[in-house]
Amino acid sequence: MMKLTILGYYGAYPHDGVGTSAYLLEKDGFALALDFGSGAFLALEKHVPFGQVDAVLLSHFHHDHTADVGVLQYARQLNGFEDLLPIYGHSALGSLLVDGVGEEHLYADGETFEIGPFKIKAFRGLHPVECYGFVIDDEVVFSNDTGYFDGLAAHFEGAKLGVFDSYNANPKAHLMVSEIIEIAEKAGVEKVLLTHLPQAGLGSVELPANFVLASDVEVIEC
Ligand SMILES: [Zn+2]
Ligand SMILES: [Zn+2]
Repeated sequence: MMKLTILGYYGAYPHDGVGTSAYLLEKDGFALALDFGSGAFLALEKHVPFGQVDAVLLSHFHHDHTADVGVLQYARQLNGFEDLLPIYGHSALGSLLVDGVGEEHLYADGETFEIGPFKIKAFRGLHPVECYGFVIDDEVVFSNDTGYFDGLAAHFEGAKLGVFDSYNANPKAHLMVSEIIEIAEKAGVEKVLLTHLPQAGLGSVELPANFVLASDVEVIEC
């Protein structure tokens, strides 16, 4: 059983008091931040005591997914956190890493690795820069930023929860809602969370009954 808290759900830039992609996954007392975009640090404070995440997992290095990774480390540095913060990425974190505060961990395509109590498998998406989706504990699957490709649905096979980044504005780099509906149906995903939402909304699409918008829910137990 894990608890997923949505810290921010817009793609590209924050809007109307809500930040960009950032999620908090909690299980057995372990708190994992999955992406940490603009506004994530302030949103995090509402859910866990100041800056106290146990690890950060990044899908890719676009700013809407990483904007607050630096300030999270500054806050820990200035407030006497002694433990290094493990930050997972697919390649060197470079300037995202604050020396002596964050600790770089690398994952590779197709690799299964553990972060605390979570078992995570990374799979490469289709995006202008290298980006990975994650299968977590074999039942919660994050698409993260990806366009449609053959084989994407296979990663969602039988998922209890599918978290899909949508951004209708740029179909080659992101999923259209119509594509998400098709994938979820094909893979038999029990529940779908639509996130990475466009500021203008998704338009007048009719969503299946098992779909929920990240703007309509804050916490999902799964
Ligand atoms: Zn994005
Ligand atoms: Zn991106």
